[in-house]
Amino acid sequence: MSPFTSSRRDFLLRTCAACGALLAGSTLLSASPGCLPLSPGPACAAGDPLAELVRAAPRARYWVSTASASAADCAACHPAGSLAAGAKAAHRRTLIRCTLCARDCTLAEGERGMCRSRIHVNGELRSLVYGRPMAIHVDPIEKKPFFHFLPGAAAYSLATSGCPLRCKFCQNWGISQARPEDYAQAPLPPDRLARAAVERRAPVIAFTYNEPTVFTEYLTDVARAGRPLGRRSVMVSCGYMNEAPLNELCGVLDAIKVDLKGFSEDFYRDVCGAELKPVLRSIRQVARSGVHLEIVNLVVPTLNDSPRMLTELAKWVVGEVGPDVPVHFTRFHPDYQLPNLPDTPVATLERAREIGLQQGLHFAYVGNLPGHPGNNTYCPKCGRAVIERDGLFVTGMHLKDGHCETCARAIPGVWS
Ligand code: SF4
Ligand SMILES: [Zn+2]
Ligand SMILES: [Zn+2]
Repeated sequence: MSPFTSSRRDFLLRTCAACGALLAGSTLLSASPGCLPLSPGPACAAGDPLAELVRAAPRARYWVSTASASAADCAACHPAGSLAAGAKAAHRRTLIRCTLCARDCTLAEGERGMCRSRIHVNGELRSLVYGRPMAIHVDPIEKKPFFHFLPGAAAYSLATSGCPLRCKFCQNWGISQARPEDYAQAPLPPDRLARAAVERRAPVIAFTYNEPTVFTEYLTDVARAGRPLGRRSVMVSCGYMNEAPLNELCGVLDAIKVDLKGFSEDFYRDVCGAELKPVLRSIRQVARSGVHLEIVNLVVPTLNDSPRMLTELAKWVVGEVGPDVPVHFTRFHPDYQLPNLPDTPVATLERAREIGLQQGLHFAYVGNLPGHPGNNTYCPKCGRAVIERDGLFVTGMHLKDGHCETCARAIPGVWS
């Protein structure tokens, strides 16, 4: 379980009754000794925390406006063929369309997007979360989970608030569904964070816990600051971003884990308030980019655990991005809006893994199930356990320069 998951009651106990800001010193914020001190920012001190944040919020990227001088920007929001070539429509008021993720939120002055992290102010879109991590923690990279990327490495992990999705099973809802004004945080510049990763001897910086796309401006600056310091950057994402921002992300990241939450439009619509198609597009795009890719499927009892859905998911991965992409079938714990469902039975996870292997996946795992043999990496040629794991810890490595020590088969991944 994430150190940042908390019950709704815990969350409210740590929240300032006057303004809703998370109280300084909250263990939700600084969960580990030695983490960067997360200090109270303007949110709690001010009478109107949101107004304070807006004043300091930098301009966001990836949006178009009806006030733009470019006819191309205007045409971006109108049905194809409804405007003459090069013409602009007459708009009574300025609207902004955020093009960062597939929600494509259209925002009037003062409105925020579905992620609550981006706001239309005076004709421009601003980021309310730039430089404002809500959680920082050092985790093993296996917790993300990445199993084929620098096994055993420490990942300096951070999140802001906000997510474009509304998954009923969210295991991190205290962060993903929080608003920027729900927590107090003085600005942490990207170079300071990158240096902190060095001080904590973490070779990897991980953007995780909430949907990192919503803080893409900050993320890319942190990743760029980390590179000259020898830090690699990874992202744990729902894959809901649009193509252009994902292209930029692929340029600064070394690995991306995408949640493929279920394999039907109905599931995405009913359980996540989203669509499947953009996620599949992102997975294909990451695979094409050459950035290391892993996929996670959280198996939720009764909702996405049918053998048919699992078969289709595995078949799609093998056919579209290849059998070497690791797929993790992870265990659900009752949380957020689904407290009524049980933990995923072990047998269901084993069946999911079995289906994945039958469909041709070379690396199918069970996750959130410490000590299970399905946590190990097996050589697809000789069957040897080339990486042994106990929970989040690597207990045995039998790889030589990325190849199985026994049969010399190459095991795809980033090993050094
Ligand atoms: S990033 Fe936020 S504001 Fe932009 S489209 Fe997605 S949900 Fe809407
Ligand atoms: Zn227009
Ligand atoms: Zn082998």
